[in-house]
Amino acid sequence: MICDSLALFAIRYWLFAGKMTGKLIIFSAPSGAGKTTIVQHLIRVIPNLEFSVSACSRPMRKGEENGVDYYFLSVAEFINKIKNDEFIEWEEVYKDNFYGTLRSEVFRIWNNGHHVIFDVDVEGGLNLKSQYADRALSVFVMPPSIQSLENRLKQRETETPESIARRMGKAEKELEASDKFDKILLNDTLPHALAAAEKIVHEYLEA
Ligand code: ADP
Ligand code: 5GP
Repeated sequence: MICDSLALFAIRYWLFAGKMTGKLIIFSAPSGAGKTTIVQHLIRVIPNLEFSVSACSRPMRKGEENGVDYYFLSVAEFINKIKNDEFIEWEEVYKDNFYGTLRSEVFRIWNNGHHVIFDVDVEGGLNLKSQYADRALSVFVMPPSIQSLENRLKQRETETPESIARRMGKAEKELEASDKFDKILLNDTLPHALAAAEKIVHEYLEA
């Protein structure tokens, strides 16, 4: 009986401690700047980081997996979750393409004893930072030029010409918000950007 209570206490303490110590690392950028490439690398090399899987209502791309890349929802399902206040932040990034961070996702990761890493657009990144100011690091991934964004989106071969145009239409304004982030990371040559990203994250987690 006492053993049971102690075990329960230990589990509660562990959950609580996890919630109290977890940090958030936010990577944001205009589409095509390379944030997914950088975030996926960080998850591979830093063991206690866990990716915050966002919910979204865009169609699944070839090679993507539900629950791994995103929780893929219909527009109606997404709107229902907005009504139920299940999101920390959400946005209609493009027409009928909703994206958002579920509250349950952050608690799931903290309860695993991990730090959360986000790959979200610029507005979402600023929103998360404003809500978790003292325990969040926000990093803006800067492309070498606007032209390089378009080239990278074309080379990724995931977007239609219309979707590339929509993404480029948002990019200029997003670049103007870069100085609102804690750090700006230039993604010029990839090996250099990956090494710089690792350094930024290690320094923050060890502080
Ligand atoms: P985002 O998540 O910001 O939309 P991605 O990580 O998907 O961007 O990168 C867009 C494309 O650019 C991908 O095909 C990726 O392989 C490529 N890429 C990323 N970083 C670089 C880089 N430094 N130089 C050249 N291509 C890159
Ligand atoms: P993609 O369709 O290329 O996967 O993502 C489109 C944009 O939505 C990207 O800039 C991506 O970072 C952003 N995004 C992904 N998840 C979220 C999220 O949870 N919230 C917000 N605000 N944006 C997100």
